[in-house]
Amino acid sequence: MTVHVVGAGLAGLAAAIDAAGRGRSVRVHEAAGQAGGRCRSFFDATLGRTIDNGNHLLLSGNRAALAFLDAVGARDALTAPAAAVYPFVDLASGARWHLAVGDGVLPLWILDPARRVPGTRAADYWALVRLACAGPGTRVDDVVPPSHPLHRALVAPLAVAALNAGTGEGAAALLAPVMRETFARGGAACRPLIARRGLDDAFAAPALHWLAARGIVPRFNARLRGMRFRDGRVAGLRFADGEVAVAADDAVVLAVPPAIAAELVPDLTVPEGTRAILNAHFRLPERLAADGEPSFLGILGGTAEWLFMRGDVASVTVSAADALIDRPADDLAAAIWADVARALSLAGDVPPWRIVKEKRATFAQTPEQVARRPPAATAWPNLFLAGDWTATGLPATIEGAIRSGFHAASLACGVENGRDRRARAAA
Ligand SMILES: Cc1cc2nc3c(=O)[nH]c(=O)nc-3n(C[C@H](O)[C@H](O)[C@H](O)COP(=O)(O)OP(=O)(O)OC[C@H]3O[C@@H](n4cnc5c(N)ncnc54)[C@H](O)[C@@H]3O)c2cc1C
Repeated sequence: MTVHVVGAGLAGLAAAIDAAGRGRSVRVHEAAGQAGGRCRSFFDATLGRTIDNGNHLLLSGNRAALAFLDAVGARDALTAPAAAVYPFVDLASGARWHLAVGDGVLPLWILDPARRVPGTRAADYWALVRLACAGPGTRVDDVVPPSHPLHRALVAPLAVAALNAGTGEGAAALLAPVMRETFARGGAACRPLIARRGLDDAFAAPALHWLAARGIVPRFNARLRGMRFRDGRVAGLRFADGEVAVAADDAVVLAVPPAIAAELVPDLTVPEGTRAILNAHFRLPERLAADGEPSFLGILGGTAEWLFMRGDVASVTVSAADALIDRPADDLAAAIWADVARALSLAGDVPPWRIVKEKRATFAQTPEQVARRPPAATAWPNLFLAGDWTATGLPATIEGAIRSGFHAASLACGVENGRDRRARAAA
């Protein structure tokens, strides 16, 4: 039996690793010339540095992402501070503070004003419990209204980053499992994790190395153009250079973006609409972070939202950036640099910069579109879906993508098990 994985983003790589780990023969087909999909690194000649398409933050409670890293021997490629501390600056007021989540499961840190958002009371943090219990159909603002003392300084920064959607539209139900799996379990589960040297070094490169050691080398520049269905199963994968036969025992994990899956799979319902993420990278005259020890800062009251520092590169993320994404890159660089300079108390002209616009960074994570996420299993018993847009119950994040890949692969491998069980039962 062979598991064909189409798409070598993190969902596809997770599926390939899971299936290969179960001893299956695996073939990976990827349209691009590299793996990693929306989570990738590249060398930028203007900066003279390898940068990521966008800053990616994980949390220490992201168990599937950590299982992926453990499987490929790359856990050390992420770094976390010794405690769950989130530094913030408010450019409007000049205030600076740290949100410091204690390690205990009981949230005693909330009782200490020095560890909270300035001006908030312990009782305000009940809003986080409401988010952890948010039901389907609710938006973040329905659960924690904009007038709430925690909205601007904590709920909005976390929700917009996690959902890549404004709080007026973002689906609160997607935050519920995140809150339960991370903040509700105390500081040990919500330490911020950042790739020490970059995304490729942490995810795609070690995964490809692990697969190569098992004789699995993805076929790059291989875009799936169509599938042949016969007798209620996928029987062939059509590429520009010909068809790859899918044998009766084989399974296919389709780990491509939703719009492409909808073109390939008849009558598939997928989320429609996307939201953009903007990243601005600046090469500074001096280092702000030690080698392999990047740091970050939440920014309120400006265009910039989250600032990451790796060596001498400062990188800013702006989520749900659809209103900004078509502005000229030099305008964006100037506006965002002004925020960075104030946040870091730096002077001088805009240093060498690079703007990366990801127009389709994630699907639009509104309650309406969340209801359109399909499960991994399809109407075809040997075809399974993976990707951050499938019905994981989580936001469209690395954790969701990897969990979906593991799940789709386990179902794909179960195709053979099911056949074996049926054969044994018939014997
Ligand atoms: C700028 C940015 C910042 C982000 N920040 C964070 C963050 O801080 N934390 C976090 O957890 N997540 C973050 N995310 C989300 C995270 O990157 C994604 O959830 C994750 O990478 C999605 O992986 P995927 O495998 O589901 O999809 P993709 O990465 O889109 O992978 C799909 C793959 O399929 C390939 N493909 C497409 N069509 C075909 C075809 N016809 N045939 C073969 N191959 C095909 C593509 O080339 C691609 O490699 C961010 C995303 C972006 C863009």
